[in-house]
Amino acid sequence: MEHHRATSTLAGLLEGNGRFIAAKPRYARDINAARGAAPDQRPAAVVFTCIDSRVTAESVFDCDFGQLLVVRTAGHVPDRAAVGSLEFAAAELDVSLVVVLGHERCGAIDAALQAVEDDTHDPRTGYLVEQLWQPASQAFAEGPGGEETASRAMRLQVRRTVADLSRRSSLDGVLVVGAIYDLDTGVVSLVDEN
Ligand SMILES: [Zn+2]
Repeated sequence: MEHHRATSTLAGLLEGNGRFIAAKPRYARDINAARGAAPDQRPAAVVFTCIDSRVTAESVFDCDFGQLLVVRTAGHVPDRAAVGSLEFAAAELDVSLVVVLGHERCGAIDAALQAVEDDTHDPRTGYLVEQLWQPASQAFAEGPGGEETASRAMRLQVRRTVADLSRRSSLDGVLVVGAIYDLDTGVVSLVDEN
């Protein structure tokens, strides 16, 4: 009941993903659309995703200008500015849904897995690796290596991010869901909580 608006927003996003997969986008997202949306914005949802250049939320969910807020950090690490952006979206823009969107072949996750495997800390990736160390090491602990480990680490990081955001009182009333984007098929699938 409480999340009625958020669940219908989520259904709308998944419908948009269906149009994207079918190569039948509704929105051209050209200059005319940009101009039409320019006076005001009424976004219904935030997608919190990775910086990966292959993950373009507006395309994946077939949204027009003004419909979607997108917060991005490598590996969707919920650091202070990212969380503050989500809080701003909820408080000032009345957004009721946050979709945490992970993806396969995530470079940030791979860097963390590599660091855990070698037990090294590269100063260039130090902060991120530190933030992703826990899901990376848990993924190794739970099974064999290879692509499966990367997939497991990414799913763990999605769930961890959802759990982190869900327990924040500053985001009370906001529905936070986890999802995974398949780079090859374009399909977004929801991730259960465990
Ligand atoms: Zn990534």
